[in-house]
Amino acid sequence: MKMTVNRIRVVVLGSPRSGKSAVVVRYLTKRYIGEYSSTGDFLYQHRVAFDGAVSEVEILDTSNCAIRGCLLDHVRWGEAFAVVYSVCERRSFLAAAELLALLERTRLPGCAAVTLLGNKRDLEHAREVHAEEGQELSLRFGCQFYEVSAAESSAGAALAFHALLREARSLALL
Ligand code: GDP
Ligand code: MG
Repeated sequence: MKMTVNRIRVVVLGSPRSGKSAVVVRYLTKRYIGEYSSTGDFLYQHRVAFDGAVSEVEILDTSNCAIRGCLLDHVRWGEAFAVVYSVCERRSFLAAAELLALLERTRLPGCAAVTLLGNKRDLEHAREVHAEEGQELSLRFGCQFYEVSAAESSAGAALAFHALLREARSLALL
């Protein structure tokens, strides 16, 4: 039997230094490399198989798109969105809330898969945002929510991306 192949475009959004690149690289390579170039966007191509089907996934790791004015273009381009904040930086959490509001305004309901990712959960001593706050925000916007640590483990990023891709795929089938 021939497998169906579908395409999923994922956009990773969030404040500078919240760990967007680290989370993406962790998901794709299972590795953590301390520093990434933060200049410019980066597009990764990736093929995944699950639930008996193959998806061609493109992941756009953005940088500073709010400032460079390309945010709306990115929002229109994607079907799935990972909004990242750092649990050690309240400002990044507020920025994540604004991004979720923007997604809600610009995308028709039920047309986008969205996950909220609280990154850097390994830095417990420096935590500024409780897990409950992330949970609450995700309930408000009806999106998924995970706390992850790109630095510490692959498990969280893998779980979060798989759940996001699964939702994106189910929306594409509607
Ligand atoms: P981006 O600008 O959102 O792409 O953020 P980066 O991925 O470049 O990460 C910004 C900084 O945070 C870098 O110094 C990373 O090494 C660090 N970082 C990223 N994720 C984590 C994490 O889970 N835990 C810790 N402790 N540091 C992290
Ligand atoms: Mg980056």
